[in-house]
Amino acid sequence: MSTNPFTNATKQLENAAGFLNLDKNILEILKNPKRILEVSIPVKMDSGETKVFKGYRSQYNDALGPFKGGIRFHPKVNLSEVKALSAWMTWKCAVVGLPLGGGKGGVIVDPKRLSDKEMEKLSRGYVQAMKDFIGPEKDIPAPDVYTTPQMMAWMMDEFSRIKGYNIPGVVTGKPIEVGGARGRKFSTAQGGIYVLEKAVKRLKMNSEKTTVAIQGFGNAGSFIAKILSALGYNIVAISDSKGGIVRDNNRAIEAGFPIGSPASERAKHSLDIKDVIKFKKETGSVVGFPGTKTITNEQLLKLDVDVLIPAALENVITEKNASRIKAKLIIELANGPITPEADLKLEKKGIIVVPDILANAGGVIVSYFEWVQNLQNYYWTEKENISKLKTIIEKSFDEVWGKKECLNISMRLAAYVVAVERVARAEKLRRGL
Ligand code: GLU
Repeated sequence: MSTNPFTNATKQLENAAGFLNLDKNILEILKNPKRILEVSIPVKMDSGETKVFKGYRSQYNDALGPFKGGIRFHPKVNLSEVKALSAWMTWKCAVVGLPLGGGKGGVIVDPKRLSDKEMEKLSRGYVQAMKDFIGPEKDIPAPDVYTTPQMMAWMMDEFSRIKGYNIPGVVTGKPIEVGGARGRKFSTAQGGIYVLEKAVKRLKMNSEKTTVAIQGFGNAGSFIAKILSALGYNIVAISDSKGGIVRDNNRAIEAGFPIGSPASERAKHSLDIKDVIKFKKETGSVVGFPGTKTITNEQLLKLDVDVLIPAALENVITEKNASRIKAKLIIELANGPITPEADLKLEKKGIIVVPDILANAGGVIVSYFEWVQNLQNYYWTEKENISKLKTIIEKSFDEVWGKKECLNISMRLAAYVVAVERVARAEKLRRGL
């Protein structure tokens, strides 16, 4: 069993390559990141002492365009994880047809222990260390786990200072006032909603009755919870890094609410997401929210719900717990939440998995719009951004679904087949292989 993210990412690529009968020379290229940077970032802390943080950037593949992908600030960041995330970014951009490659960065740090001033220094320090390797034509970072629009503003500012003029297109996910795209903040969740609604229709599930459990209450998890509850889905459980909560109401979990029941009836069963968000802001966690039972993150995954949305970190569904997953549909809003071994088990059970590279592509799609707008200095409305996102992600879903149906393969393999074929073709054309 492997929980090494890069081993797993490579396995997923190899599965697709085997299916496509891919030229082994091309596969050799696609299996390796083009460049890996490891840097030491000294930060003078508030206490006066200097601490050195380790930072990474993996530039995986740029056959389709400049490297693109977020930067993660987390105590458990490691090179294998960053490499895997950069490979997944490559396939993500390719499967939705963006003219971008894949990259990813990370810093080993517990951001909860840093002051704002220290976070600013670390963000600027990351850019100083990477200055020769990033830029609008080279590699465009963005937010990821525990990195925020404010940090993107500092990074953009630092890069612009170094170069001597304003370069907003060096990072995406910025606040709107400094060149951010309208709607970028909730775009990962919104993209997840579009694919979820498509899948629910294909599987003939009834959204009025559909029960949902969401693991993770960060940017993606909290926004998808909010949008789903507004659409009338019955969210019975959510969690964050401190633990989970499940609605203390068996009927809601076992049966959902009756079809056609009025919104007021439905509201009795679903968690009130606006209140949960408020509660978390005040207490630091969703745990303890009134009217709920406390559960672990592991228990949340095994609840008898229709839709499960892992929206936190990788490797949460493994060979160990896959056989106990009861959801009919899984939307991977996190990157890499399911290992390849677990994938096989879920497939045998008939569980449909909408893979991360498609399900969470909404973020990078709107990042792409942000980059385009920065380069043109011409800004679109939120409505324009979100309607263009819808067009792209729904078309990609249909393409992947069509492949899955006609080749009788899982959605993950179908998505990889589409993505790997695109990158492989570009490599072939560019290298004359
Ligand atoms: N970190 C996000 C992801 O994993 C967004 C990347 C981006 O916008 O470049 O897809």
